[in-house]
Parts: sequence; C-alpha cells; structure tokens
Amino acid sequence: MNGKIALITGASSGIGEATALRLAADGHHVVLGARRTDRLAALTEKIRANGGSADFRQLDVTSLESVRAFVTAAHESHGRVDVLVNNAGVMTLSTLDKLRVDDWNRMIDVNLRGTLHGIAAVLPLMGETGGHIVNVASTAGLRVDPTAAVYCATKFGVRALSEGLRQENTNIRVTIVSPGFTQSELADQGGDPETQAAARAASEQLGIPASAVADAIAYAVSQPAAVDVSEIVVRPTAQT
Ligand code: NDP
Repeated sequence: MNGKIALITGASSGIGEATALRLAADGHHVVLGARRTDRLAALTEKIRANGGSADFRQLDVTSLESVRAFVTAAHESHGRVDVLVNNAGVMTLSTLDKLRVDDWNRMIDVNLRGTLHGIAAVLPLMGETGGHIVNVASTAGLRVDPTAAVYCATKFGVRALSEGLRQENTNIRVTIVSPGFTQSELADQGGDPETQAAARAASEQLGIPASAVADAIAYAVSQPAAVDVSEIVVRPTAQT
C-alpha cells in the first residue's frame, strides 16, 4: 500500500469521522482515536467495507500517557507515523460571569493540552523521519465573540503553537485548518444550555458538512513533502 499512516484524534464523530472516511478513500491507512470505541469500531468496519484500511484504539487526549500509547501502538503496528490530525475538541460556551470553571478547564484540557499531547507524542518520531501535523483550530481562533472567550482562547492558542511548531521544524509540515460553522455534535457536549442551543441552531442553519473540512485536510495531506499548506480557513459562505 502506497498510502500514508494517518492518525486522527476525535474520529468518533463530525469532522474527525469525515476526515477518516476521506483519507481512507484516498488510499491512506487511518488509525482512529477517541473515547467512544463503539463508534470507532463501527467506522472501522464501514471504511473496510468501502475497501479502505483502518484500525482504532481508545484515546483520551487529556492524558499524555493515553496519547503516547495511541501513537506508539500505531508506530509498532505500521512501522511509521506519517500524519497526525489533532482534531479532538469540545466547545462548552457561556459568558465568563457564569463562572463555569469546569467547562473552561475541559476546553483547555482537550483543545489545547490535547493538541500539545499529540505533538509531544509524534515529535520524537517525526523529528527523525519527517511528517505532517494537522491541527484543527477554528474561525474562533481568528476572532472573539461573546460567550466564546475560553473556546476562542484555546483556538488562538492552537494557531499560535502550530506556527511555532512550523518555524522550529524544517522537515515536519504543519497545517492549521480553521473551520467555521460545521455540522457535527460539537454543540451537544455541555456548556450553558441557552448558549449551546443558539450555537446548535446556527450550526444547523448555516453549517457546512463535515466532509467540506475533511476535503481541506485531504488537500493539505496530498501535497508533496516540500509543500506545506500552512493554514486553511473553510467556512459557510453565509457566515459573517
Ligand atoms: P464533534 O463533537 O462531532 O467531535 C468531537 C470529537 O472529539 C469526538 O470524536 C469526540 O470523541 C472527540 N473528543 C472529545 N473529547 C475527547 C477526549 N478527551 N479525548 C479524545 N477525543 C475526544 O465536533 P466536531 O467534529 O465539530 O469537532 C472537531 C474539531 O473541530 C474540534 O476541535 C472543534 O473545536 C473543531 N471545530 C468545529 C467546528 C464546528 O462548527 N463543528 C468549527 C470550528 C472548529 P469522544 O467523545 O468519543 O471521545
């Protein structure tokens, strides 16, 4: 098989699931990670039924140990890790005065620490052989809106650390993919109920399919090793 070995975090739904389907359809072997293994098992079956190649492992990106085990298992099984898509994320919105500190910490742990854990796990491998790290940020990493201060802070952070990673490495491609409203389960994971309902409605009204973001990721992955697509913003035409 000529495809790459591509690891995807948060592959159990939304953008991660769509990315797994797309990269597998492009001939890459995908390694799926998330906490819900029933979803990962079903997706693995679907990819194989479509003629693609996939396996999965339970993953909690808030644990460095879990992320290292995920990457090590893939490396041992396949002999290399070519691509890591740091996609796992949560968005639990509220105004700061609601003091939903647990929600803030969860977003920091999954979105920011989780991405750093992914980088920490693959850098020792990719530093030697080269590779590609795709970090899923957001248009919330480009501008701040009320109720989204902490979510935006994590996504500004993901963009900042991606740029630093790019500058420090000449043999690792680093891509930031910043989606706008996208159809997924993102608004269903907690936060202030009223605010989350508004986010869900906006997403249902405006959201692009997760496959549109997967297409952007696949484009970056498909470029030659010497070409780094540093950042892609993909959002609904009607999103202001
Ligand atoms: P979903 O909620 O559909 O998917 C989120 C994924 O993250 C799930 O697979 C979930 O899997 C996984 N996840 C959450 N917590 C953890 C954890 N601790 N460890 C491992 N995996 C975890 O939302 P999206 O597909 O929309 O989100 C994907 C990325 O896209 C996120 O980073 C999000 O911030 C970003 N994004 C989304 C936008 C949108 O409008 N939908 C817009 C801009 C960016 P499980 O629960 O099984 O662990």
